[in-house]
Amino acid sequence: MFAATILGIACMSFMLFFAMNKSVVTTEEQDLKGSGNLEPLIQTILSEKEKYEYVVLINAAHGGNNKGNTVNELEEKNITLAVGKKLTKMSVEGEIGIFLIREEDTDISNESRAQLVEQVQPDLLIDLHVNADPTNERTFGTAMVYNDDFYRPNITNAWLADVLERELVTEIQGKALGIFSDAEKKYPLLSMLPTPSVSVEMGFLTNKQEAGLLKKDNYQKRIATGIYKGIEKIKEELDKL
Ligand SMILES: [Zn+2]
Repeated sequence: MFAATILGIACMSFMLFFAMNKSVVTTEEQDLKGSGNLEPLIQTILSEKEKYEYVVLINAAHGGNNKGNTVNELEEKNITLAVGKKLTKMSVEGEIGIFLIREEDTDISNESRAQLVEQVQPDLLIDLHVNADPTNERTFGTAMVYNDDFYRPNITNAWLADVLERELVTEIQGKALGIFSDAEKKYPLLSMLPTPSVSVEMGFLTNKQEAGLLKKDNYQKRIATGIYKGIEKIKEELDKL
């Protein structure tokens, strides 16, 4: 409940917060009008995806004017994109193919992102975010958020979230805040998808130490590796069925 409230505050509220000479701006999952032209990307993914057994789409949340959580110079949109790019490089031909919905610093509406997901029909969608807790700068850790309404035999989003949380936290030696059902639909993209999906809250920009890590290339790489290990584990379990 505590963390669920934090997540709510972090990603959903429009707030301007000043403390100790630091400015923290948390933003709503703004659905600005931008849609861009995603058609070329869709065609590329559709032709490439045949090379892989298991296809994962990464949503680098926010982008362009939709900066997401912002603390000092650090913007959520840049961290989600950096980790997303690192993940795509981990694709293994014949096995796991990882594609990115947003490849540049542009805003894309959640509707357009959802349409892309529908057309591409990946096996899994991972939605990357960075958290903020304006009420407590000591809060840190990773959390997974999932849509509980979605169900496919042998795959629930809660199970996917649990596997990803375990692998990610082990890899970065971080703190697991747990997995949370998005019952209040605060992650609009999740409720639009007919696809197994999880939102990953990678850490808190309002925590000085975690923010320091999140901006580092090496730490972003470890996050990507942890998520990749989660994807591998999920595929491995599904292959046994
Ligand atoms: Zn976000």
